[in-house]
Amino acid sequence: MAGEYDYLIVGSGLFGCVFVHEAALAGKKCLVVERRSHVGGNIYCSQKEDINIHQYGAHIFHTSDKELWDYVNQFVEFNNYVNSPVANYNGELYNLPFNMNTFAKLWNIATPAEAAAKINEQKQAIKGEPRNLEEQAISLVGTDIYEKLIKGYTEKQWGRKCQDLPAFIIKRLPVRYTFDNNYFNDRYQGIPLGGYNRLTEALLADVEVRTGVDYNEEREKFVGMADKIVYTGALDAYFGYKLGELEYRGLRFETERYAEMNHQGVAVMNYTSAEVPYTRSIEHKHFEFGRQPVTYVTKEYPAAWKRGEEAYYPVNDERNQKLYSQYAKMAQAEKNVIFGGRLAEYKYYDMDDVIKSALATVKKELQVKC
Ligand code: FAD
Ligand code: UDP
Repeated sequence: MAGEYDYLIVGSGLFGCVFVHEAALAGKKCLVVERRSHVGGNIYCSQKEDINIHQYGAHIFHTSDKELWDYVNQFVEFNNYVNSPVANYNGELYNLPFNMNTFAKLWNIATPAEAAAKINEQKQAIKGEPRNLEEQAISLVGTDIYEKLIKGYTEKQWGRKCQDLPAFIIKRLPVRYTFDNNYFNDRYQGIPLGGYNRLTEALLADVEVRTGVDYNEEREKFVGMADKIVYTGALDAYFGYKLGELEYRGLRFETERYAEMNHQGVAVMNYTSAEVPYTRSIEHKHFEFGRQPVTYVTKEYPAAWKRGEEAYYPVNDERNQKLYSQYAKMAQAEKNVIFGGRLAEYKYYDMDDVIKSALATVKKELQVKC
């Protein structure tokens, strides 16, 4: 018997929103259920005194894919924000990502050749292919930068030693021999005008949504209700943790209001020493060039994660990847369920990649269905 809906979408993050938008456009009847009290997943912003607060950590949209950029621009226009965080190492300030501004301040040098000579000399410490994050970092930027700007930050962030972390994590960061503080190499970048909720609202316009519903806890209510399920929650949770728990890194946010216009002068300040317990402090108004008389600043504390709490970063080490592949096999055998997004795929996904993945999934799905 056919269900009342063509698709039941579990989760209203970007993956769910993009999937449902396209499915609804194609005439499919859809229902979205969301565990939280609001839609948007991790890109959700709350509002305080006309300032958009990135409730689940700072989000900067960036992509090199023109088609994808055109796709999101159908729904929202983006401002010209360029992420240029500043690193604070016990009060010493350095520009990020690692570039000529960083090298000049650190070593009192002026040319790319001088910077390259310094890094070359320091990276001799590493022989052969880097085997972990520490070796990868030193071979990219040398020991001084590793000690001041990477080691403390990374060990706080991940709760383990750099020698025990995979090298790929640090490869995300550009290293440049130019005076360029743009954190990303991508062609397109910005924050939606009016904030991220505008994007979510546009994607979900005219879609039926129920918030405050945890699908895994209320599953029996939905049996037979839809022909297919699109599940964007955690994979181990879907299977009742049958094979064990996938590990995540948690975060705790502390937001303070200041009766001043400009508290730290930059949207993102990274605290890179081990002594400071938080990794970043975010002054939200700077993402949108706010001129309000007050400001809100959020400190981001990395934390151990426990089941039931928001899962922020997947810990993609060997043990977890192995467990994930076992769950992924079970997922493949699940009939009429599509799994997607950062939780179901247990993947460190940027927003543009999640949208791309949702578009590819829905396109394939609608072709199959037609
Ligand atoms: P989510 O946004 O997590 O959405 C999943 C939704 O499913 C959630 O709303 C959740 O509540 C819901 N859900 C889960 N389980 C259930 C259930 N059982 N029942 C009902 N609902 C359920 N990307 C960038 O491109 N730029 C950035 O600057 C950036 N910064 C980031 C900073 C942080 C701290 C983090 C954690 C991520 C960042 N990202 C960034 C990544 C970005 O957040 C993700 O790419 C994107 O939000 C993923 O969308 P999603 O739909 O896969 O997952
Ligand atoms: N990183 C660092 N120092 C910094 C910023 C980043 O060592 O000041 C390292 C850290 O290991 C982090 C990784 O680079 O996990 C990727 O940084 P990114 O800013 O992309 O992290 P995200 O925004 O995804 O938390």
